[in-house]
Amino acid sequence: MTALPLIQAAPAQYRRRSALPPRHLADLDLAGRRAAVAALGEQPYRAGQLSTHYFDRLVRDPAAMTDIPAASRDRLAADLLPTLLTPVREQSCDGGATRKTLWRLHDGALVESVLMGYPDRVTVCVSSQAGCGMACPFCATGQAGLTRNLSTAEIIDQVVWFAGAAARGELPGCPPRLSRVVFMGMGEPLANYARVIEAVRRLTDPAPEGLGLSQRHITVSTVGLLPAMRRLTEERLSVTLALSLHAPDDELRDTLVPVNQRWKVAEVLDAAWAYAGRTGRRVSIEYAMIKDVNDQPWRADLLGRLLAGRLAHVNLIPLNPTPGSVWDASPKPVEREFVRRLREAGVPTTVRDTRGREIDGACGQLAAAEVAQ
Ligand code: SF4
Repeated sequence: MTALPLIQAAPAQYRRRSALPPRHLADLDLAGRRAAVAALGEQPYRAGQLSTHYFDRLVRDPAAMTDIPAASRDRLAADLLPTLLTPVREQSCDGGATRKTLWRLHDGALVESVLMGYPDRVTVCVSSQAGCGMACPFCATGQAGLTRNLSTAEIIDQVVWFAGAAARGELPGCPPRLSRVVFMGMGEPLANYARVIEAVRRLTDPAPEGLGLSQRHITVSTVGLLPAMRRLTEERLSVTLALSLHAPDDELRDTLVPVNQRWKVAEVLDAAWAYAGRTGRRVSIEYAMIKDVNDQPWRADLLGRLLAGRLAHVNLIPLNPTPGSVWDASPKPVEREFVRRLREAGVPTTVRDTRGREIDGACGQLAAAEVAQ
């Protein structure tokens, strides 16, 4: 059997020290925070104060936590609020309602997040790994290989940063409360399983333990890591599962999503239906429309047959080609015909909003642009 390129060595320009960052408040539950505060010789209730600032008031700057005496504040901040994310570059469009931020992590690794504000909701798309080891050939992040997993707090801090921006009214025409998180930035979330699940818990625990978001408003994507999908099914969470399918047949999917060489279309769909059955949640089938590669009418029909009658929804993604790439987006008439055939098969289908296209919307592109400079 062909060895899978699951964990690639990153090219030299991406190669970094791969240590996790220092521990942060958001890595711990409330009991863990109390213990950490007590270990510093501080009153345990300071853990609640710090948590209220960070998770409820969305304050990340220790200097602004003025209800804590300065000496205690400095001690607590040094131990529990290390700087995890330093913004390197921010791009925005849609009048400021779409923002993409490139962050430098403590070890120099680069990741990015995208904020999308709508009249009725504010969504953030977070990265779960620096780089990605899944090697999907059409994806800029996949070309760079995996640098390292992000810590739980590095994931949470992306959300808290943008939740603060929304609360300060920085997103014109959008509600002030960030309500949705999608794990669709850099990385394969289920390859960083424990930290991603911990992040989901922290996002959904009520404040001040966490951010108090609804589990139903969290989407976790995967290319189909079968054991992790089964494990997720047993977690008793009700997050939305998004399966990045991109092809309905093994022959093509073996190439487009190399992990398919290990776990085939039928197996990952079975795991997705098991998740849907356990949670009652509709699975989102992600399908990047790539010109002359996976957009043929017969593939739409095959996909329709695989999904008909299932608790599923197809999200077609117009490919955002990376500079110099041989991959291109499907023409609109081809995309429309694909949608028509899926709907005719009884499969709910939408075409993803191409928010952020002007700001290198495909995952990994912003980091790639920075490294190339
Ligand atoms: S498409 Fe997703 S899973 Fe595939 S290489 Fe890119 S980031 Fe990784």
